[in-house]
Amino acid sequence: MLLQNRTAAISGAASARGIGLATARLFAAQGARVAILDIDERAAREAAASLGPQHLGLFCDVADKASCQSAADQVVAAFGGIDVLINNAGITQPVKTLDIDEVSWNRIQDINTKGVLFLSQVFIPLMQARGGGSIACMSSVSAQRGGGIFGGPHYSAAKAGVLGLAKAMAREFGKDGIRVNCVTPGLIETDITGGKLTEQMRADIIAGIPLGRLGSAQDVAGIYLFLASDLSAYVTGAVIDVNGGMLIHG
Ligand code: NAD
Repeated sequence: MLLQNRTAAISGAASARGIGLATARLFAAQGARVAILDIDERAAREAAASLGPQHLGLFCDVADKASCQSAADQVVAAFGGIDVLINNAGITQPVKTLDIDEVSWNRIQDINTKGVLFLSQVFIPLMQARGGGSIACMSSVSAQRGGGIFGGPHYSAAKAGVLGLAKAMAREFGKDGIRVNCVTPGLIETDITGGKLTEQMRADIIAGIPLGRLGSAQDVAGIYLFLASDLSAYVTGAVIDVNGGMLIHG
């Protein structure tokens, strides 16, 4: 098993059809003890219980530093330390540039980007104390190609911010044995689109995907597993596309 005797915290892992919970399931199946950190506390507890009694479901608002600290304290009390952090929590909103108001801008930035900083800040000292660790951060193809899929320009900007932040953290914490990488998925079939993805939008998007289908949560979970495990021991500061060929770099 790839994560035997490892501990992992995954943010945004409570929603039933989401990437985070698919990742939690895969990590648990690979031997990890998993802490599910989510703003939906009840769903986090239920999701953790569905994985087994050794796992943890906790309230955590990634945009609130005190909430992140409290979650990290509870994780370390229960698990004794942390090996893997998956900065997965995020939200989106389909609006155009001229319609982005300040509240929406702040909300998208706070959860998608500032949340990555806050959660990393509370878990990195625990990894340093343990002599290393792996952090994987959720960006999006939207950051690379300037949106145009579902989320608005503020979402593209927030997810591009994640790429810069993660690469800088990779540079800063390599000396501590902490690797930091990103995933950039294309459109993955989860509930994040909140019923606003029409059949026509779906068909148009699939027409531009060489593999001819949208992604599944499991498609992304597999890449998170690769980044969390020793299979990627010499990989840091990397960005891994999970997009079916929707964007192929030159
Ligand atoms: P989802 O809506 O199923 O899951 C998001 C989870 O984040 C939910 O459990 C939600 O409760 C949680 N969350 C929201 N705000 C939070 C906060 N402040 N603190 C903690 N948790 C919070 O969506 P998903 O598609 O599984 O999205 C997971 C990540 O993948 C997001 O960062 C999203 O931007 C990113 N992503 C998704 C796609 C896609 O097409 N689905 C593509 C690229 C990137």
